[in-house]
Amino acid sequence: MEQNTQSFDAVVIGAGVSGLGIAWRLAQAGQSVAVLDRGEPGRGASWAAAGMLAAGVELEPKEEWLWPLNRLAQRRWPGFRDELEEASGHSVGYRSEGTLVVAPTRDDAARLRFNTDLQLKNGVEIETLTGSALSGREPRLKPGMAAAVFSPNDHQVDNRALALALEAAARASGVEIRPGETVHRLTLSGDRVTGIETATGRISAGHVVLAAGAWSRGIEGLPTALKPPVRPVKGQMISVRMDPEQPLLRHVVWGPNCYLVPRLDGRLLLGATVEEKGFDDAMTAGGVLAVLEACWRVLPGLEELPVDEMWAGHRPTSRDDAPILGPTPIAGLHYALGHHRNGILQAPVTADIVAGEILGTPVPEAARPFTIARFLPAVRSEAVE
Ligand SMILES: Cc1cc2nc3c(=O)[nH]c(=O)nc-3n(C[C@H](O)[C@H](O)[C@H](O)COP(=O)(O)OP(=O)(O)OC[C@H]3O[C@@H](n4cnc5c(N)ncnc54)[C@H](O)[C@@H]3O)c2cc1C
Repeated sequence: MEQNTQSFDAVVIGAGVSGLGIAWRLAQAGQSVAVLDRGEPGRGASWAAAGMLAAGVELEPKEEWLWPLNRLAQRRWPGFRDELEEASGHSVGYRSEGTLVVAPTRDDAARLRFNTDLQLKNGVEIETLTGSALSGREPRLKPGMAAAVFSPNDHQVDNRALALALEAAARASGVEIRPGETVHRLTLSGDRVTGIETATGRISAGHVVLAAGAWSRGIEGLPTALKPPVRPVKGQMISVRMDPEQPLLRHVVWGPNCYLVPRLDGRLLLGATVEEKGFDDAMTAGGVLAVLEACWRVLPGLEELPVDEMWAGHRPTSRDDAPILGPTPIAGLHYALGHHRNGILQAPVTADIVAGEILGTPVPEAARPFTIARFLPAVRSEAVE
């Protein structure tokens, strides 16, 4: 059968926030770009997320090396939001009330103190709150918390609105977005990528960006050593509906094994399980129970609220929980995947780092540790550092 062949400067595999952001940046710089997605744009992990930009309160032991990248992402967010809203004509629902972390019991308080010490040592801005300061900020939380802190720089964005805005901005700058087109294979010539293959044809490209989230290992044509070590980590979430005029919460709130994220439209997102179940996307009674119970211990009044939606998504998680960004030993092939629980936070830096690397602009220092080189034998990694 005769097959079509088209040609672009760059092809991006996957229209999540990672792929769309990179495509937008490349098109702004005058590149011809196509983004292919096997489904609807933005409906992967980017749709399932909670949208927290929680660089500070998510800083945990053994993850200190992520802090410079996450802090850079956090700082870039306001400018990124302004530019994206202007380019797309869509609001991304950014809220800047900050994040509260609460500890209902003394055990929880000891753990919170341990994490807060680590965060303060790394330069995260965190304020300890008295009980009355906490209830002043959020009067509907369960009274009598053993401890609480406030993180003034950890904000949130509506991740679904973000995906739609990125899609609109990318299209407006000339990106060709193709929903419903699964990329089956990369094509290579020696150590250089030449394009991709779908069921209907070939596309040739000087650069290919693999941004297929948790599915990134499934693309054929990659040498085994370069298959990215990424797997799906399932998360179940629930949203309930508050009265937007009298919301139960205004801040993002973290409690033991849960978080609560109030949206401007009255939705209150409750999350999330962390499960090693492959690509299973069933909502389970145990998952729903765990999320609801943990959130109810923090905000008892939520039991009156109508359930709005329940869904499960797949965090694209690398072997060390950090993203894999930038060049590979195959010339022209770039990775933007493995963002685990931080891909919404990292969307602005992912876009700038990967597009910048393709365009030949200097990569920020904070991005250097995050190439695929860290997973390769030394002889191969020299080429990409
Ligand atoms: C429950 C949950 C809560 C989360 N909460 C947060 C949060 O609060 N803050 C935060 O920063 N992050 C959060 N995350 C993580 C965040 O959602 C991800 O890190 C981020 O969305 C990854 O974006 P992506 O574009 O790389 O991947 P995705 O959004 O998954 O996009 C990948 C795309 O590739 C497409 N694709 C796959 N295979 C192919 C193929 N062969 N051909 C063509 N297209 C293909 C898919 O259809 C998909 O659209 C959460 C994730 C989950 C699941």
